[in-house]
Amino acid sequence: MAILRFHALKESITYKPNTFIEKGKRSELFGTNVFNENTMRQYLTKDAFKGVKSAIEEGKKINRNVADQVASSMKDWALSKGVTHYTHWFQPLTGTTAEKHDAFFETLEDGGAIEKFGGSQLVQQEPDASSFPSGGIRNTFEARGYTAWDPSSPAFIYETTLCIPTIFVAYTGEALDYKTPLLRALNTIDVAATDVCKYFDKNVKKVTSFMGWEQEYFLVDKNLVACRPDITLTGRTLLGHSSAKGQQLDDHYFGSIPNRALNFMRDLENQCMLLGIPAKTRHNEVAPNQFEIAPIHEEANLAVDHNSLLMDVMGRVASRHNFKVLLHEKPFANINGSGKHNNWSLSTDTGINLLKPGKTPMSNLQFLTFFVNTIKAVYENEELLRASIASASNDHRLGSTEAPPAIISVFIGAQLTKVLEELEGVTKGKLSPEEKTDLKLNVVGKIPDVLLDNTDRNRTSPFAFTGNKFEFRAVGSLENCGNPMTVLNTIVAKQLKEFKKEVDVLVDDKNFKKDEAIFNVLREYIKASKDILFEGNGYSEAWEKEAKKRGLSNNKNTPEALKVKVHKSTINLFEEMGVMSKIEAEARYEVEIESYIKHIQIESRVLGDIARNNIVPTAVKYQNILIDNVKGLKDIFDKEYTNLAKEQLNLIKAISQHIDGINSNVTKMIEERKKANLLTDVTKKAEAYCQNVKPFLEDIRYHCDKLELLVDDELWPLTKYRELLFIR
Ligand code: ADP
Ligand code: MG
Repeated sequence: MAILRFHALKESITYKPNTFIEKGKRSELFGTNVFNENTMRQYLTKDAFKGVKSAIEEGKKINRNVADQVASSMKDWALSKGVTHYTHWFQPLTGTTAEKHDAFFETLEDGGAIEKFGGSQLVQQEPDASSFPSGGIRNTFEARGYTAWDPSSPAFIYETTLCIPTIFVAYTGEALDYKTPLLRALNTIDVAATDVCKYFDKNVKKVTSFMGWEQEYFLVDKNLVACRPDITLTGRTLLGHSSAKGQQLDDHYFGSIPNRALNFMRDLENQCMLLGIPAKTRHNEVAPNQFEIAPIHEEANLAVDHNSLLMDVMGRVASRHNFKVLLHEKPFANINGSGKHNNWSLSTDTGINLLKPGKTPMSNLQFLTFFVNTIKAVYENEELLRASIASASNDHRLGSTEAPPAIISVFIGAQLTKVLEELEGVTKGKLSPEEKTDLKLNVVGKIPDVLLDNTDRNRTSPFAFTGNKFEFRAVGSLENCGNPMTVLNTIVAKQLKEFKKEVDVLVDDKNFKKDEAIFNVLREYIKASKDILFEGNGYSEAWEKEAKKRGLSNNKNTPEALKVKVHKSTINLFEEMGVMSKIEAEARYEVEIESYIKHIQIESRVLGDIARNNIVPTAVKYQNILIDNVKGLKDIFDKEYTNLAKEQLNLIKAISQHIDGINSNVTKMIEERKKANLLTDVTKKAEAYCQNVKPFLEDIRYHCDKLELLVDDELWPLTKYRELLFIR
């Protein structure tokens, strides 16, 4: 057997799992390493505490004096926990997290040294940011970008570093990260939703967007991955024949978690507790070696931070357990890929979930208002929502028959469909007292009961209402949730703003009663946005046809999907809502399209190398063994040999054909890459990579996978699916 693969298998079979020892109750561990309200109360003076609180709750600026106090307390707290360094922790457009560690330690003139951390270091830093993607906003000669403290997400300690969540902006003020536009979007939805809430309750002062993610992932033995340059370099397998047993038996989903994986999960959850990530659920997913972790939902900015942090922590914890975590959307062909569901809702500072039906007709009318407005927002902006989750890796998932299709639609269930139908039938204009009573008692008043048995959960829908929240299920497992959350909150904010305007016109100019006006506007919205509602099988071909008739977009690849990001309407939307300027929106398009090009380019190079340097030589080696065998048979049996060596001769020929298939396709792929690289327009270049380079990945893989079946297992250099996919 190829020597590396042999050792890897041996190591993985004899690996002794780390037994993880649980340290105390989870509730007691929770948030121990977070500079949260509780800790702040202990460490801060009353004034400083108040200052931070009002920054968190009302977005007020923190003055220099308070910042100094907070910094000094943070430092004392961190030092008491053995921390030596601090970092501004941010989420650049690479999709991962970034940090540059500085020691608290400073020297003194007299030769001594102290630990120091002041307000200015807390509030702002200027990392040399020239190597982060900026989409042309920041020229390298103006390398300065700066990070600025986001007090709404608490500082935390990871290992021996104090991490301060920050935004990352160019010197000229444009956002270079995911957090900045998200914070703006959360602010804009707060304003728009609070305005609408005032129709129902004058006491509402703030509306907060909540998010609960569900993160899917694969766990693979680290040694086995070491024999897979494709996984190591691209996060997925670019070749590999399916295992004889995959997920056909449906025996993995919710099955008993293998001990080795369970130890990893307990260790990971323990880290989550320390970091204040409220991890709650864990289970096996559909594919072998596939799992899920989900927390309790939180304020959206914090939830996004926690998901980014989790993705980082997962990798580190996995390493301790000799695992590699694969967050890629499609690490293995022919078995399920991974996604990340973003559960989303809006809540008031009076404690009402606006997407949860209430107990009275009035609170239900409020629910319907937010429910219908969300549906309308998704309808009007379905293409933008699709664009918010576009990436080279998510293209493997959307549109193939396992995950939500690339068509965005909304699932609301049979009962709410009926409610909307009844609302649609409401008389136009003013309502008679009888009509109003009937409406309130028989339509709006009935929602809570019906929802209780609304258990049909359509798993093929990309955007589903699930009782008290919407669930955006098309988000990529590898992706930063900031992007989709920014878009979702912005489009709903815009829609609520429109709604408010329309209702006010009816009330102020046409003398409608408030509830009459609301019914009237909602009725029109239901009519207008019907085409986005779909309850059937999203994977079916029939739906693709139907969606096309309805005029819904079906952008199956990233270059197509991203285009809408720079449409005039999108830029106007972001500008109007104060979420992104034209420059920022265009820069993001550029960063994302370039990232797409680079991903396909890397995959194409890696596969070309593996095919030529590993697969072809292995095939030749085996073919030579066969040739020797045939020659031997000929020596012994003379003419009879053709009959005796029939199978060998066929194999020799088949191997030659596949070697030829690989070589000619790799050569053609390289030619296409060269042609694409000459294009200076990034959009055209991305299209060339998508249409002319990417297809070769499949063609080359086909021949490699055929060879895997033909060549002696002893010689095969790469760990096989059947070895990678089943934790021992
Ligand atoms: P399923 O896998 O059936 O979708 P889970 O219980 O695994 O359900 O996940 C539900 C997710 O929804 C969790 O992440 C949870 O935090 C989140 N969630 C629950 N209620 C809300 C809410 N009101 N707003 C946002 N997210 C929520
Ligand atoms: Mg879910």
